[in-house]
Amino acid sequence: MSGRRIGLFGGTFDPPHNAHVALAHRALVDLALDELRWIPAGQPYQKVRAITPAAQREAMVREAIAGEPRFVLERCELERSGPSYTIDTVRALQARQPGAQWFLLVGADQYAGLPSWHDWRDLLARVTLAVAQRPGAAVPASAELRAVPVAAVALPPMDVSASVIRDRVAAGAPITDLVPPGVASYIDRHHLYRPG
Ligand code: ATP
Repeated sequence: MSGRRIGLFGGTFDPPHNAHVALAHRALVDLALDELRWIPAGQPYQKVRAITPAAQREAMVREAIAGEPRFVLERCELERSGPSYTIDTVRALQARQPGAQWFLLVGADQYAGLPSWHDWRDLLARVTLAVAQRPGAAVPASAELRAVPVAAVALPPMDVSASVIRDRVAAGAPITDLVPPGVASYIDRHHLYRPG
C-alpha cells in the first residue's frame, strides 16, 4: 500500500462537531487523500479541564465518521499510556507504512501553537502540514514555523467549537445545528455535559 496519501486528524473531540466533519471532507478533496485517520487523544496534555472519558469520545467520533469509508478511526493514542504526543503517533504510524505520504491536518489555532508541541521540528520533517483557517486564530509568532511550507485546506470560516457545544448543552440550549445527528443523540442518551 505504498504511495497512499494519508491524512492525520488529531483532536480531543469532546465532542466532534460539524466544523471537524467539514474540515475532514474538505481535506479529502483538497489533499487528494486516500484516507483520513481521526485520532482521538488519549490524554490531551495541553487541556487543563476535565475531559470526557476516552471511550465516550471514541464512540462519538465513530458516529461522526459513519458513512464515509475514507474516514478511519485510529485508536493508537487511546491505547498508549501517558500524554498523547503527536510525534509519537506519527513515528509509530510511519514505521508501519514506510512508503506513504503523510499530511497532518490542523485548524489555524493549533497551527499557531505548534512550537509548543513535543519535538515539533521532527514532526514537521515527517509530515506535510495542512492548515485550515479558524475564526479568531492568530498567525504563528514563530518565524521558523512560518517559513515551513503548508498545504491549504479551503474550509470556509466556521465559528464552531467543542467548548461552545459543551456550554450550550449545560445551559439546556439546542445543539442540533452544530453536531452530526448521531453525536447529538449520543450526548443526549449518555447525559454528557450536563451540570452536576
Ligand atoms: P475545544 O473548544 O474543546 O478546545 P475544539 O473545537 O478546538 O475543542 P478539538 O478536538 O480540540 O476541537 O480540535 C481538533 C482539530 O480541529 C484542531 O486541529 C482544531 O484546530 C480543528 N478545529 C476545530 N474546530 C474548528 C473550526 N471551527 N475551524 C477550523 N478548525 C477547527
